[in-house]
Amino acid sequence: MKTNIRKGDTVHIRTGRDLGRKGKVLQVLSTKGKVVVEGMNIRKKHVKAKRAQEKGQTVEQPTPFDISNVQLFCEKCSRAVRIGITREGGKRARVCKKCNTAL
Ligand SMILES: [Zn+2]
Repeated sequence: MKTNIRKGDTVHIRTGRDLGRKGKVLQVLSTKGKVVVEGMNIRKKHVKAKRAQEKGQTVEQPTPFDISNVQLFCEKCSRAVRIGITREGGKRARVCKKCNTAL
């Protein structure tokens, strides 16, 4: 699946309990069309103790979002925006469709 979202981008969450929040993209799973966003969509996973004396642990893991449920955030517009692509100087670049700033 093609996406304009990249690792390190700030995205706006459009679904679930993190609706309206923004976070940094940690990972793009392009084959699955999903992204992992730092601190968002956290699922607590219980890890069982391996030995009787050990305690079980709760590990917090971010669950990936569908790419359609996140949108790139433009700092200048301070809102989630649609992305346009320019080919200025023969190089593909992403721009904010609203203010035309390179993202
Ligand atoms: Zn903008």
